[in-house]
Amino acid sequence: MIFIANWKMKMGLSATLELTRTLTRQLRQLPDGTEVVVCPSYLNLTSVFPLLKGSRLQLGAQDCFWEAQGAFTGEISPRDLQEQGCRFVILGHSERRLHLNETDEQIHRKVEAALASSLVPVLCIGENYEQRAGNQKDNVLIRQMQVALQGVALGADDRMIIAYEPVWAISTGGVGIEATPQEVQYAGEVIRHIVIDLFGKATLDQKVQIIYGGSVHSGNVRAFTSLPVISGVLVGGASLKADEFIQVIAAASGGGNQQ
Ligand code: PEP
Repeated sequence: MIFIANWKMKMGLSATLELTRTLTRQLRQLPDGTEVVVCPSYLNLTSVFPLLKGSRLQLGAQDCFWEAQGAFTGEISPRDLQEQGCRFVILGHSERRLHLNETDEQIHRKVEAALASSLVPVLCIGENYEQRAGNQKDNVLIRQMQVALQGVALGADDRMIIAYEPVWAISTGGVGIEATPQEVQYAGEVIRHIVIDLFGKATLDQKVQIIYGGSVHSGNVRAFTSLPVISGVLVGGASLKADEFIQVIAAASGGGNQQ
């Protein structure tokens, strides 16, 4: 099970370091097979990385550019991320699609660039409220994945994570509705079939994980992580408080408080 904390642009340096220190201290004993990834803002990545040494936490970035180097003022190289200690990179987050007009074609190039720099792409896909209301969910997932992943080759050491993040269920940009486990299982199955179409079943089993994100907290996480198709969660708001994020991890495997 993988737990990815997306800290967005929510904390300054000192709050980020304090949260990181608390998590590394309190998450020393994780069950085998449990991975925890923290994704601070870019500027805080290099300050967080040294604190993770010797811990069970891994480092992720919230985006990268589609070239590793060149005349691209202000952009973030995936190669630099890898050299600075990142193993994961979130790509295609709905906030970037919305505020920066990121397209599926750009996200495709970023996925290729991330893999070329030995990063694990965490590809975010999901329909918005209008698309859901118009019964467009399947079409949106198919289009986003086909464009982002067409022609992508996963090499022997590559790994990829697909995060189903329905925009309407995200705590900050959503419409105040939580996804039901049935909806997440359904979307996960659609995603599973698209991955099989694009890469084959063996690649799905060995290199691709499907996770869920959207208002996950300690009270609902188990309902999602117990779904057969889901191997982890991407957590925004609930990852900003150490106690709550630790509860999310505990509750996912049946411990902690459940509603
Ligand atoms: C997100 O934005 O990726 C996210 C999952 O946020 P939240 O958990 O706050 O809904």
